[in-house]
Amino acid sequence: MVLLEASSRLGGQILTEHVADCLLEHGAEGFVAHSPALHEVCGRLGLATEVISQTVSRALVAEDGVLREVPPGEAGRRLGIQARPADWGRGLQSLRRGMGSLVAALAAAIGQDRIRLTTPVEAVEPADGRPSGGWLVHSGAGTSFEADGVIVALPATAAGTVFQAVDPAAAHTLQRLGTVSTLSVTLVVDKDHVRHPLDATGIVVEDTAAPAGLRACSFASSKWAGRAPSNRCVLRAFYRPPAGGVGDPEPWVERTQHYLERIIGLKGDALYTRVVSWPTAIPRYASDHEAVLAAALAPLQRLGRVALAGASVARSGLDGAVRSGYAAAEAILQAGSRAPAQ
Ligand SMILES: Cc1cc2nc3c(=O)[nH]c(=O)nc-3n(C[C@H](O)[C@H](O)[C@H](O)COP(=O)(O)OP(=O)(O)OC[C@H]3O[C@@H](n4cnc5c(N)ncnc54)[C@H](O)[C@@H]3O)c2cc1C
Repeated sequence: MVLLEASSRLGGQILTEHVADCLLEHGAEGFVAHSPALHEVCGRLGLATEVISQTVSRALVAEDGVLREVPPGEAGRRLGIQARPADWGRGLQSLRRGMGSLVAALAAAIGQDRIRLTTPVEAVEPADGRPSGGWLVHSGAGTSFEADGVIVALPATAAGTVFQAVDPAAAHTLQRLGTVSTLSVTLVVDKDHVRHPLDATGIVVEDTAAPAGLRACSFASSKWAGRAPSNRCVLRAFYRPPAGGVGDPEPWVERTQHYLERIIGLKGDALYTRVVSWPTAIPRYASDHEAVLAAALAPLQRLGRVALAGASVARSGLDGAVRSGYAAAEAILQAGSRAPAQ
C-alpha cells in the first residue's frame, strides 16, 4: 500500500497548530458526536481515551448588534451545515490534542515509508496488457505506480480529472458537483480584553452591521477544554469569501477585530492571528447526491478494485470522509481483480 498526497503535508482540511500556549484548529475542529466511523478509527488507533465532548452547548445569534440564545441545533441549521438529520443538535466531539493527532496517528499506522508527499495524482487508468489486470497511477512528479486496487480520496474536481481518460462521463459528473469556499480567521487574545463571558459555543452572525461574508464566530477555547491557558481565549471567525479570492490576510483580521469589539467588547491587539483560506473546500450536497454519484460511478467500479472516498462522496464532514473510507476499503477487498484486457 502506498499513499500519494499532492501537498507537502498530510491532513487536508485538518490543520492543527500549537502556538502561544494554545491549540488552534484552522480546518475541522471536531466530528459529529455519535459518529460510529470516527469512534471506530479512534479506537483502532489507540485514541479512544482522547475523545472529548464540547464543554458548552449554548449557542448565540447576533442580530442588529444584539446577542440572543438559540435552541440546540438551531445554530447549525442557520449556518446551512449539511449534516445528516440525525446529527442536528447533538454537538461535536474532538480529540484532546486536536484533530491533527488523528492525522499523526494514521500516518504512524500507515508508516512513513508508504507515504509520498508532494506527489499529485494526475491520472488513474487500467493497466491493460499487464498480467495483474490492475491499475496504473500516474503522478505529476513523473512517476507511475502499479496497484491491484485504487482508492481515490480526492475533492470531486480532482477525482474527475484523474478519471478523465478512463471514464469521461463519471469525470463530468464529479466535476459538476458544487462547492463553497470558506475562510477561517483565528485570534488569540487576553481574556481581560473581552467584556463578554464567552459562555457559549459562539455566535451565528445574521447582523446587517457585520462585515460582508461573516457567517459565525466560534469561542473555541470555551467550546473545548484545554485549548488555551486560563488568561487567554481563542476566537475564530468564519467567512464566506468573495469569488475572486481573499487577497491580503490583514484586512480580514482587522474587520473581525472591529466587529468583535462591537459585539463582545474585544479590546486591544491580539497576541496571535492567522487567516487560512479554504477555496472550493466544502461540497454542496443535493438531496439526491449519493444516488447521482452511485449511478455515475457504477461503470467505473465495474472495472474492479477502484473506489472513491472523502467528503465529496458522503456528507457530514469528517464523519462522511471516514465512513466512505471504510466503505471504499471494503469494496476494494470484496471486488475481484480487474479482468486482464482480451
Ligand atoms: C474551515 C473548515 C472547518 C471545518 N470544520 C469541520 C468540523 O468541525 N467538523 C467536520 O466534521 N467537518 C468540518 N469540515 C469539513 C471537513 O474538514 C472535511 O469534510 C473533510 O476534512 C474532508 O476530508 P477529505 O479527505 O474528503 O478531503 P480533504 O481533507 O480536502 O483532503 C483531500 C486531500 O487530497 C489532496 N489532493 C488534492 N488533489 C490531489 C491529487 N491530484 N493527488 C493527490 N492528492 C491530492 C489534498 O492535498 C488533501 O490532502 C471543515 C472544513 C473546513 C474547510
